[in-house]
Amino acid sequence: MAEISVTFPDGSVKPFDQNASAKDVAESISISLAKKAVSARFDGELVDYEAPLAHDGSIEIVTADSEDGLKVLRQSAAQLLKTVLKAKYPEINFGEGTADEDGFFVDTDKVDGQVSVDELDALASDMAKLVKNGEAINREVVDKAEALNRVNGDPYQTQLIKEADEDSVVFYNIAGVSVLGDGVQLPKLSALKHFKLLSVAGAYWEGKSSNPMLQRIYGTAFNNDADLQADLKRRQEARERDHRVIGNDLDLFFVDPKVGAGLPYWMPNGATIRRTIERYIIDKEVNNEYQHVYTPVLANLNLYKQSGHWEHYREDMFPPMDMGDGEELELRPMNCPSHIQVYKHHIRSYRELPLRIAELGMMHRYEKSGALSGLQRVREMTLNDGHTFVAPDQIQDEFKKILNLMVQVYKDFDINDYTFRLSYRDPENTEKYFDDDEMWNKAQSMLKGAMDDLGLEYVEAEGEAAFYGPKLDVQTKTALGNEETLSTIQLDFMLPERFDLSYVGADGQDHRPVMIHRGLVSTMERFVAYLTEIYKGAFPTWLAPKQVTIIPVSEEKHGDYAEKLRAEMAAAGIRVNVDRRGEKMNYLIRDAQTHKIPYTVVVGDSEVASDSVSVRKYGEQDSESQSSADFLKLVLDDIASYSRE
Ligand code: ATP
Ligand code: ZN
Repeated sequence: MAEISVTFPDGSVKPFDQNASAKDVAESISISLAKKAVSARFDGELVDYEAPLAHDGSIEIVTADSEDGLKVLRQSAAQLLKTVLKAKYPEINFGEGTADEDGFFVDTDKVDGQVSVDELDALASDMAKLVKNGEAINREVVDKAEALNRVNGDPYQTQLIKEADEDSVVFYNIAGVSVLGDGVQLPKLSALKHFKLLSVAGAYWEGKSSNPMLQRIYGTAFNNDADLQADLKRRQEARERDHRVIGNDLDLFFVDPKVGAGLPYWMPNGATIRRTIERYIIDKEVNNEYQHVYTPVLANLNLYKQSGHWEHYREDMFPPMDMGDGEELELRPMNCPSHIQVYKHHIRSYRELPLRIAELGMMHRYEKSGALSGLQRVREMTLNDGHTFVAPDQIQDEFKKILNLMVQVYKDFDINDYTFRLSYRDPENTEKYFDDDEMWNKAQSMLKGAMDDLGLEYVEAEGEAAFYGPKLDVQTKTALGNEETLSTIQLDFMLPERFDLSYVGADGQDHRPVMIHRGLVSTMERFVAYLTEIYKGAFPTWLAPKQVTIIPVSEEKHGDYAEKLRAEMAAAGIRVNVDRRGEKMNYLIRDAQTHKIPYTVVVGDSEVASDSVSVRKYGEQDSESQSSADFLKLVLDDIASYSRE
């Protein structure tokens, strides 16, 4: 019998029978290791624990409690789900179905209606039954012709089989149901005790929106119940903060992929929040000597050829519109070239610098469909954009000014949990960037110098720069735990060069300005998503879409008084309504709390008699009585209180 040599992590080499499996190797090390093990990495690849290794290679045994072990467990959960689905719906088609960083998923396509979320518990109990029965996972190596035969026309599985590197593929047969494998499996199903099927969502085959939409069933699995329960709790908390869920509950916005993926519609409530932020930010910027402009979202493609976007940023841009007369129009992916036009429209003097141009500028980026997420990552967005044109010796001062302004703004929004990241170009991959080593070194060290001067902590990240220069990014975390850039300040020596920008210096000569790009609060989309998550939908009064709701105990007896209060408050600029639905009082109060309205006011006989109100603040259990004049003042003070200037 032929032998193979197996190399261990410590470098030692041992011969084994060619039919030896990872399990045999583990047993040769120790029986207790062999018991804990579920798989191995053989030449770096995960392998089925009991399958023959068949060739020389180096091995690392994978135990159940390791990261790889968890992956194998989840791959088995996905396989088991496919098994019960196939048993229940023999005609079902499967796309991908394997572990991901968060659990596992199975993509399905069923001719006769979809798998519904109500079915998940029943499917999970089918899975649990097979585990309990002690069913084995039988591995079958099948040649491609036979494999194609087995999947019986399933278009996705057919493609997967055809694209497989080897001549054969692996099926796993559990309780007589054989399904194409998508990742190695546990040696025994009995370890798969702690799992849950979570949700159903749409997912395009291969992640491409031009492909059919499949139904993705999500689940998760762990080695023990405590880990599973902790994860379910974490998911619940994330869900409570998830801006997509809250956005729907509070009717802030929606995105309908049928109308346009990544193209959000702002409903009146969301629009109110956005308008409040926009007014705030414009006032703030005007007070800080920014000049606001409006510039078009469309421009001749040549503008983006000149700016370098076409060369360096094309994959994020929408394709140009051919107007048929030789003109090609492009939707702008960034506002910089537009603001450069504003700068160039006049001859500029050194006395005008720093010249600060700002705009709530709408831009379009063709983000990958898989990356789109609510308002967080969209394809049409409005950036709180600004470009400062400075003389070279003004860079550091201006940078500090912007940073200061940003910190003030963060305070007003009560944003405290963020970190600074200096984003440099990737030294290994310089062709992605504007090619001028000296410029990069100078700009990067200037940014670092300014941060050190200010005594601020930061991390440095290579490969995160814009193509035209390095940046300071302000990083925050989303409810789902992903890191996202919120604000950004970017130094740019390139665009002034490309557009031949100049100003007349004190010496009467032309000089080249430097550009600083900055987004104080990022795009309206990402910012509102972020705020929704940090506030869990309970927006502070100044931002809340509805600030006060007045509930008359009886419409007949107290309706006029409620209306009088409403009119007074509305005249003072407060967003207030009277809830005249006439439902039970408790229901209406609860409903106002569910909608996270900062103040719920109840008026009945005694309030009418004494021109007062009974007020309940959001999140509190008790109501308090107050004169209506005091209450009006309280709300106005609350609205004004965000600003700590
Ligand atoms: P990211 O790395 O998040 O894709 P970027 O570095 O390409 O962003 P910039 O060109 O610096 O982004 O854009 C300015 C700001 O606009 C970003 O800091 C981010 O907050 C926001 N932003 C960028 N892309 C999107 C998007 N697709 N949807 C919503 N906001 C976005
Ligand atoms: Zn810019």
